[in-house]
Amino acid sequence: MPVRIIALVVACAVSSVTLAASVPSIPEPDYTIVDDFSYSQQTAATVWKPMAGSKPVSLIEIDGKKALRMPCNFHGTKIDRASWDGSLKLDLTMCKGLQFLFYCPDPTPVASFAVYLHSGDGWYRGGFDAPASDGWAAVRIYKNATNIEGQPAGWSKVDTVRISAWRGRDVDTEFYIAAMGVFGTGGRIVIVRGDSAASEAPDEPESVKRYTQVMTEFFDRASLSNTVLSDHDVTSERLKGIKLVVLPHNPNVPANVADEIAKFLQAGGKLIACYTLPKLLEPVTGIRTGAHIPQKYQGNFASIRPSDDALNGMPTVTGQASWNIRGASAVDGSSRVAAWWYNDKGRSTGKPAIIAGENCIFLTHVLLSDDSTNKMQLLLAMAGELVPELWHQAAVGCLDRVGRLGPYDNYDSATDGITKLASGDSRVLEALNKADSFHSEGVDMLSEGRFSQVIAAAEKSQEFLIDAYCMAQKPLLPEHRAFWCHSAFGVAGMTWDEAVKILADNGFTAVLPNMLWAGAAFYESDVLPVAAAVEQQGDQIDLCLAACKKYGIECHVWKVNYNMGWATDKDFISRMKADSRTQVRYDGSSNERWLCPSHPDNQKLEIESMLEVARKYDVHGLHFDYIRYPDNEGCFCSGCRRRFEETIDKEVRNWPAEVRNDDGLQEQWLDFRRWQITEVVAAVAQQAKKLRPDIKISAAVFRNWPVDRNAVGQDWKLWCDRGYLDFVCPMDYTDSSGHFQRMVEQQLTWAGEVPCFPGIGLSVWSDPSDICKLIEQINVTRKLGTGGFTIFNYSPNEANKILPLLGKGITSNE
Ligand SMILES: [Zn+2]
Repeated sequence: MPVRIIALVVACAVSSVTLAASVPSIPEPDYTIVDDFSYSQQTAATVWKPMAGSKPVSLIEIDGKKALRMPCNFHGTKIDRASWDGSLKLDLTMCKGLQFLFYCPDPTPVASFAVYLHSGDGWYRGGFDAPASDGWAAVRIYKNATNIEGQPAGWSKVDTVRISAWRGRDVDTEFYIAAMGVFGTGGRIVIVRGDSAASEAPDEPESVKRYTQVMTEFFDRASLSNTVLSDHDVTSERLKGIKLVVLPHNPNVPANVADEIAKFLQAGGKLIACYTLPKLLEPVTGIRTGAHIPQKYQGNFASIRPSDDALNGMPTVTGQASWNIRGASAVDGSSRVAAWWYNDKGRSTGKPAIIAGENCIFLTHVLLSDDSTNKMQLLLAMAGELVPELWHQAAVGCLDRVGRLGPYDNYDSATDGITKLASGDSRVLEALNKADSFHSEGVDMLSEGRFSQVIAAAEKSQEFLIDAYCMAQKPLLPEHRAFWCHSAFGVAGMTWDEAVKILADNGFTAVLPNMLWAGAAFYESDVLPVAAAVEQQGDQIDLCLAACKKYGIECHVWKVNYNMGWATDKDFISRMKADSRTQVRYDGSSNERWLCPSHPDNQKLEIESMLEVARKYDVHGLHFDYIRYPDNEGCFCSGCRRRFEETIDKEVRNWPAEVRNDDGLQEQWLDFRRWQITEVVAAVAQQAKKLRPDIKISAAVFRNWPVDRNAVGQDWKLWCDRGYLDFVCPMDYTDSSGHFQRMVEQQLTWAGEVPCFPGIGLSVWSDPSDICKLIEQINVTRKLGTGGFTIFNYSPNEANKILPLLGKGITSNE
């Protein structure tokens, strides 16, 4: 792996490498190293430049191995992050990402860590949580999980590695990095990420990232090694030796890239393309694509089913709730329709879902992560049709994966561990028996070469193990168990009655339905504009609340404050803007989706709208969300200036620069912002209790109070101290349970006497069906004695898959 340290190595007469006795010894890395830091102290300082306000790095040496020490000077400083730019030229094209060893004796002062890779005119950013381990642990930055900032020029042109520790608390700490390298080299499948779409449309990078990730996760799950290649980096040279190229969601494939893929196909390569097939590739693949076809109604495209001329090993039904597809047709003699779209009534739509040719398979939508067991089988059928040897590899990989769940890392440890947990429970033992028979069946079929059946058996075995693991969990009572529900209409495809019944049946005690926004209500409101859908679908608070009463579930009505969101009528937004009631950023640009928090009419609207809910409905609680500024950019409107000047009784001459540059003024400004938000919380809390003495006031808040009270004006510790809140739900949305635990530990100290029911980010995890991790995080809340938790978000996956599994054990009613 080519690496070049740009700075010249300067001879250093006196070794100034620090010996660090307290740092554990550095493990031997088992991946390709690009920088082992085996240079002098002086070179380290030249290569790794601190950003303004950060302290320089130093080198330590333990048993002949070197590591960088990175000090985080947060105490008494104002830096947002401790950060260093390493001048390293890296070619990361043909690997899965960057890897290094990491050790941080106390990560609690750090809100989050990130690695930024500079390339061209932009950056790839990958966040990471400090590993839970007390010693050294490996950190991996997956290319497919990085976000794009600006316009990076591809993974071959990385010239700077920036490592940042974002401020969490006003306390110093330090961390260490050793053995920087790459992982996941040698894959024979290339997934092309459509990075060039970033320059075309502002919304595209997020969906490009998401569907690239779905694709890599399915291949990873089948242990088929794969490499994500930016479309900036596609060359026929790099595709030499590659068997299969995948276009997961590539809205605008540049002509030169399509050209390189055409050469690859002509040389015997194979292609899976989803939703978009570049025109240039149509003659090479013998597949014709057409116009975009939107769904006629929800449920129009609900599943993919085989045609008479199907792919070998594809499932008979693969669920996929697509909202639109691409028209496509087979070309006589070169391709065929291998699968059709069916609607939610199980009828064929007559629209092709999969077209298969000699060297290419085209899926007429992107691959979504729903119905993941069948989806993986479908993807393998597509890949195996083109490259038959992948079937064998996937079969071995899938069988090997059985038992990797929760705290277990193989089949034997899983069955042993779950048997112990079961303590004789016959339901659990029965599920373990089933897992075992599918597992043995899989092993037998592997030796017979029946690969697609091996994969099906392996998936079944894993499913029964997960089932057994879930059933072996024990409930804890009493416990506040809640779900946020982002849709005012509840769970898609269900009535509120059905959705709330599922919560109750599975031991949940509360739901927080999002019934109002800054500019929209999903019930008969006299204060806010009523969403048009209410006329056809009814008053949603009425419907939800009736179900909650029937099944004994608490209903805490959730408002998205200040943010007018997607549901708000355009006329209302224009009127707010015309009346100078919307926010203005530091640079003077308008943020018309957000109401200005200091405008008295907006405060009144926020307060009155929430009180109206308490007045009209017998709800259990009112729940604030977005009860903050969008970021440190708001609000710099002329009204804020005037009201701020009145508050401090002084003119601000150089607006708005002075409120950032003048330390004294900045403190007053941050106080002013916090107060605008706090006033609304206080007013709602005090007045709602007059209307309904038992009502509970709560809020969804950012996770890092000391920073967020300045950044977004959200002073939630104060709201707890003053008794405005009856419980608080910090949104601790992280995949890492170690990080989750550290956050909750901190938050419990800020919440004080007020119950803190941490928010678990299930739906936004990289795997939203990871029930074992959900159990792990629920167990963290129990270990810390929170008395409850709040899960985001209640949708069909949670209702149909997650809740029944929780209800079998950890939240069981019995
Ligand atoms: Zn303003």
